[in-house]
Amino acid sequence: MMEEILPGLFRIVLPLPGNPLKEINSYVLTSEDRNLIIDTGMNRPECQEVLNPALSALGIDLGRTDIIATHYHADHQGLVFTLLRNGSKAYMGTSDALAMEAGSTTHARKVPMGDYAAISGFPEAELRWAQENHPGFKYGPQAVVNYIHLKEGDGFTIGEYRLQVIETPGHTGGHVCLYDARNKILFSGDHVLGDITPNIQAWTDDDDPLGKYIQSLDKIRNLEVSLCLPGHRSVIRDLEKRIEELIEHHRVRANEVLAILERGPRNAYRTASEMTWDIVAKSWEDFPVMQKWFATGEAIAHLRFLEDRNFISRELINGIITYSAPSSSSQRL
Ligand SMILES: [Zn+2]
Repeated sequence: MMEEILPGLFRIVLPLPGNPLKEINSYVLTSEDRNLIIDTGMNRPECQEVLNPALSALGIDLGRTDIIATHYHADHQGLVFTLLRNGSKAYMGTSDALAMEAGSTTHARKVPMGDYAAISGFPEAELRWAQENHPGFKYGPQAVVNYIHLKEGDGFTIGEYRLQVIETPGHTGGHVCLYDARNKILFSGDHVLGDITPNIQAWTDDDDPLGKYIQSLDKIRNLEVSLCLPGHRSVIRDLEKRIEELIEHHRVRANEVLAILERGPRNAYRTASEMTWDIVAKSWEDFPVMQKWFATGEAIAHLRFLEDRNFISRELINGIITYSAPSSSSQRL
């Protein structure tokens, strides 16, 4: 599906079969001079079968087309390598581009991952399956892309559109949004979504993605935006309201995690199994392994957030990070 949202600004909706996200929005800005693609879809035929004819219908010359990936997840940059031609450039936020180059994410080609999942209580057999079937691993770019690193304030002009880079770490460490102040448009990537809640995961002790995410929501809440164009599903008209809903969602979620820990010490995997999820499954045991992976990553993000703010503490029990809340306090955020 393709629609012209405003003159020279198109949205192409690419399918993600079997993925709860269902589809991804790729945006194309065209001009006499150069074109820009924001997010590409996964490196899988179902995406290419929709994207390629749409780009042809727009008369896009890929040699005069640059690409920005809002972040390193495979649904946003899987086809960058395939679309690049001599004369075109690819851009990504600095810390995501560095993570890709270092191979330290499942969305890079070669990944040593899983150690942190193991000490978070993820069972070994499920861990191996998740590693082999992670969408980032399966549907990432077919070869390494030499990304130009984006930083705060970098600018792009395409016809009537002037985009400015806003660094919004949280969903990933190097996530960026693109803001056109004159036209009051925000390309929000996966930082703000309308119909679903962006997944915030942590897989390390050295970071507080949820804390950064909330800061990054605050950072954009006062921008003048009349049209917010997200990475998935429908466009957002009232950005400030949506940001308030997302902040409230995570406050409720963090309190849910606190209540779970008051029942006794737990690792992240078990904490995730007791949280409420929007997944159609009879029980945690029936969750697809990949969904258990994302759920555990999200549980870790909330546990890290609570730990950094001294709501909970941890100890290492038999090599597994085990969190506990003071039993008597019943404190809430
Ligand atoms: Zn994402």
